[in-house]
Amino acid sequence: MDLKITCIPGDGIGPEIVAEAKKVLDVVAEKYGHDMQYTDILMGGASIDVHGVPLTEEAVETAKSADAVLMGSIGGDTTTSPWYKLPPNLRPEAGLLGIRKALNLFANLRPAVLYEELAGACPLKEEISAAGFDMMIMRELTGGLYFGERKTVEENGVRKAIDTLTYDENEIRRIAIKGFDIARKRRKKVTSVDKANVLDSSRLWRSVVEEVAADYTDVTLEHMLVDNCAMQLVKDPAQFDVILTENMFGDILSDEASMVTGSIGMLASASLNDTKFGLYEPSHGSAPDIAGKDIANPIATILSASMMLRYSFDLDREADAIDAAVKQVLQDGFRTGDIMFEGCEQVGCKRMGDLIVERIK
Ligand code: NAD
Repeated sequence: MDLKITCIPGDGIGPEIVAEAKKVLDVVAEKYGHDMQYTDILMGGASIDVHGVPLTEEAVETAKSADAVLMGSIGGDTTTSPWYKLPPNLRPEAGLLGIRKALNLFANLRPAVLYEELAGACPLKEEISAAGFDMMIMRELTGGLYFGERKTVEENGVRKAIDTLTYDENEIRRIAIKGFDIARKRRKKVTSVDKANVLDSSRLWRSVVEEVAADYTDVTLEHMLVDNCAMQLVKDPAQFDVILTENMFGDILSDEASMVTGSIGMLASASLNDTKFGLYEPSHGSAPDIAGKDIANPIATILSASMMLRYSFDLDREADAIDAAVKQVLQDGFRTGDIMFEGCEQVGCKRMGDLIVERIK
């Protein structure tokens, strides 16, 4: 397969972790007979320094012309970096919001996996963590409360703030289809999370999800109220496969699920549009405190590259090879500083990349 990938190294540890992900992709390409071509674009602080803006039109056009985008992370130290003296629309994060909008990325995927080897980092009781878990949180990213009309008014001397939560059936249907498609690549179970006992938007959500489910009879659908889901994530996380939910609920639940894994340097993510196109990036930030020291954990970015192969290119065998190599490296006792455990060997960013590459070869 000939694949054109736009890379956004970004800021902080971004360039270091993207370099390791490219190394891993290259060895996969060599082993399985693909041709991967990368074009780098600037975004965030790196783009501000060169172009004065966090994202240029040319950069967006380059991203659009690719088959997928692989990103490191953007942003600097928000208290000391001069980027944060700029108006909000010119700060690094505006680049990320801009590219998500330009590429119409409405579906956000965040896997939360507890590896057996890292169970000690899980803050849950041992009898719960011992079972491990592997879930995918699928969050609607461009609708709902964060995009509704909002205003603050004063009525009879009392300040009043109004936020609106709207979803139309098309917005719900397209994310539900993505959720069921992803479930088909996994354990074939969707938990749709809403607040249908209170909200009209949730009642519509539930009924559209049921309509979509009719086309996926091989996938099990269950509904769960968001408050219950927040509890179940810490009580019995192993029950979940794909959690499908709207923007605000997904924002909160995906952070909860990440915390339960205990290892931020391991968490990948993807944002997809209604074709196979997606932007893949680690869930963590640019970690300016450790940038340039060769100590960042590149695994979240490497697993994001694996998601790119699986979800944008349907290269499941190649993605499985990366996931298995990551697991093997952990089993062999190698750790970066953020996931270091007594008795393991601590390695840097580049060495971790090399160890994963060796296990794919
Ligand atoms: P962060 O995720 O960058 O760092 C939080 C802590 O985790 C730090 O101690 C850091 O050293 C550590 N850490 C993060 N990733 C790591 C890795 N791969 N290996 C080892 N340790 C790792 O969050 P922050 O400090 O709140 O934010 C720093 C910058 O990143 C800010 O400018 C923020 O806006 C930006 N940010 C960007 C994104 C993105 O690009 N999508 C996401 C979140 C934050």
